[in-house]
Amino acid sequence: MNKETAYKTYLSEDEIPRAYYNVRADMEQKDAMLLHPGTLQPVTVADMEPIFCTELAKQELNTTDRYIPIPAEVLSFYRMYRPSPLVRAHFLEKLLGTPARIYYKYEGNNTSGSHKLNSAIAQGYYAKEQGLSMLTTETGAGQWGTAMAMACAYFDLKLKVYMVKVSYEQKPYRKTVMQTYGAEVFSSPSTTTEIGKQMLAQDPQTSGSLGNAISEAVEVAVGTEGARYVLGSVLNQVLLHQSVIGLEAKAAMEKIGEYPDVVIGCAGGGSNLGGLMAPFMEDKLAGRPSPYFIAVEPASCPSLTRGRYAYDFCDAGQVTPLAKMYTLGHGFVPAPNHAGGLRYHGMSPILSQLYNQGILDEARSVEQTEVFAAAIDFSRAEGTLPAPESAHAIKVAVDEALKCKETGEEKVILFGLTGNGYFDLMAYQQYLDGQMSDFIPTDDDLECGFATIPSLPGIQSF
Ligand SMILES: *Cc1c(COP(=O)(O)O)cnc(C)c1O
Repeated sequence: MNKETAYKTYLSEDEIPRAYYNVRADMEQKDAMLLHPGTLQPVTVADMEPIFCTELAKQELNTTDRYIPIPAEVLSFYRMYRPSPLVRAHFLEKLLGTPARIYYKYEGNNTSGSHKLNSAIAQGYYAKEQGLSMLTTETGAGQWGTAMAMACAYFDLKLKVYMVKVSYEQKPYRKTVMQTYGAEVFSSPSTTTEIGKQMLAQDPQTSGSLGNAISEAVEVAVGTEGARYVLGSVLNQVLLHQSVIGLEAKAAMEKIGEYPDVVIGCAGGGSNLGGLMAPFMEDKLAGRPSPYFIAVEPASCPSLTRGRYAYDFCDAGQVTPLAKMYTLGHGFVPAPNHAGGLRYHGMSPILSQLYNQGILDEARSVEQTEVFAAAIDFSRAEGTLPAPESAHAIKVAVDEALKCKETGEEKVILFGLTGNGYFDLMAYQQYLDGQMSDFIPTDDDLECGFATIPSLPGIQSF
């Protein structure tokens, strides 16, 4: 197949992709292999099967198939809300007085309110296919838990969600939506697991962390017949599913004769950015003209900009495989701020590898109050109330557009608007009341997290 046009072959008449694009197949230097936490050997599908659905474990380790067909049932679910809109931000351009053309791909157009549903429905499908009856997961800001609840309702699977305590308290209605779709929701750390009890004994006042919540969900999955664990970011399989964002965006831009000079995405675990940039990264990896890629993260949880590139556990309880990634240490507990879904200690191994090689061009960290200022400008100009996570990308898109105003360059800027902010109104209120502040960890704070990165005999981590 002609490499240049391969992705189009998989785009259907209705402009929804027929296959996921696996960027790893085109990476000369692959992301480092996941290691078994006990043996420190590369994990196999058999190692992963007790925790993950078998097909998803296969996808996790697949570095060779460039395209993986989207199952028909998943495709028909996508038809309910895809293709998602690609919008030219005319009013934002006008507000900024920039010669840049700004586009955003809006993923907040479904009840879960974010791009997470793209992977949730695929994961639910593979679980159902395997004959499983229950899934467990964690959720930070709540979008993933909601997406998974919708997927499990669709496929008639039971779901237990461990929700990071700070979000559980800040966003009570997230819980209501999950329950509406039939999920059981626990505040994490909880007393329903051994690891949760340990965490509570260590620090009864803890605000929780994704790392803890993952450990709880894995413990329950492993201990329950017919159950597996699912994760909404970081993993290779999730980036794979999220490639639908980029595939649609690239095709839509092509249709109007545009190609981005800059692609910007917020980065929590890296799935939306990985998905948005994948088909453009395909151009870069093939040596064709390609955009400048920027990952945006919160200054409060700066894994790419201040973290270490090392093997680390994906969870606080050290039960998941070790991944080589930019990490703040699995013991890092971020300040309880509103970066919500961006509060994870690590970063996708694929993005980490691309960033380490300078193929993902830049990572930038931004502060909470400037992010909310950008969110409010955007909502007033464009009529869409963005999720705080998405607003990180808005902030940098605005900065780039203002640079164009100075230089007169008519750049094409594409960013990912990953979700809507209807469940984040408490945070908006805090900002409007002048009650929001910036949390930036000191070097000493970060050292505490780094101290929890394991030193592995015989493994070149740094
Ligand atoms: C989860 C989430 C993110 C961050 O996750 P990634 O895996 O980095 O994409 C960003 N925006 C929204 C709306 C989210 O729900």
